[in-house]
Amino acid sequence: MQASYRTFLEYSPQANEVRPGMYLGGWQAYDAKPFTHVLTVMDDPGLQYPPTLKAHLVIPLEDTPSSNLLDHFPDGIEFIRSALAEKGMLFVHCAAGVSRSATMISAYLMATEGLTVEQAIASIRQARPIIHPNSGFLMQLQLFHEMGCKLDPQYEGYRLHKMEKLGEQWWKQKSVETDSLAQVSEAPDLQVARYRCRKCRRLLATEKNSIRLTTGAEDSGGGAEASEDEQEASLFVEPMQWMTELSSGEVSGKLYCPHCKGRLGSYSWSGIQSSKRTWITPGFQLHLSRLDVENSKDAPKVVLSKPRF
Ligand SMILES: [Zn+2]
Repeated sequence: MQASYRTFLEYSPQANEVRPGMYLGGWQAYDAKPFTHVLTVMDDPGLQYPPTLKAHLVIPLEDTPSSNLLDHFPDGIEFIRSALAEKGMLFVHCAAGVSRSATMISAYLMATEGLTVEQAIASIRQARPIIHPNSGFLMQLQLFHEMGCKLDPQYEGYRLHKMEKLGEQWWKQKSVETDSLAQVSEAPDLQVARYRCRKCRRLLATEKNSIRLTTGAEDSGGGAEASEDEQEASLFVEPMQWMTELSSGEVSGKLYCPHCKGRLGSYSWSGIQSSKRTWITPGFQLHLSRLDVENSKDAPKVVLSKPRF
């Protein structure tokens, strides 16, 4: 339901009580009640909150679909939880009380009341009809729901989210911090497929670093197939610390074994097509012909990929 402009004008300056003691609004309502706890989901506007204020958490980010609010959900939820446990009067706000702050409260309601994304939003709209989380935040809420309302570093959708954010960071800075990239675990685990350089046996990745692509059903349709020799079976992985090429500042390039310097695959910050219909952005691709696979019983599904060069 899209709120009318008149509804918007009516609710915009208010702080609306979503749950007992929990208010949601735009920053203008900062002194509408004797708030004890304030959760600011925007750059700190430096407001003079009521003297009753005891705790203030600022999560500075913009209201754009690519803003990474998901990674702040646990902090925000914990802040809301402790404010309500202390029987405080909590104000959760952003600029307009429409997208960012409403998303944070949705995450809280999902985590504590077991609501779905739609149920959380519908519940908040009963108090404040004008809320409207942006499309990226809706996807982040859905991902949070799929992970059982926590951040699960093993969950593939979350690793893809992290890769996307890393890609956006690269486009802004033309570099990435190598420390933030994945390390390959040497710990023996018989249940997990391990990928070694075929030439020198250096361990490069395990199944836990791989990106499985579920393209099966979509690919059954018509359209010209690339001939066999144009395709090469590939493993898509998350960006790894050994990929020193990633700090070259180049948009795309080849990946080499850090030990024997043998060619392993390629990367592209603008994405690699993994099949006719699926792009993975950014893409980090190792050719299976250059790898030895151990414990392949449960190895990730092999994806056929047409090299772009
Ligand atoms: Zn090697």
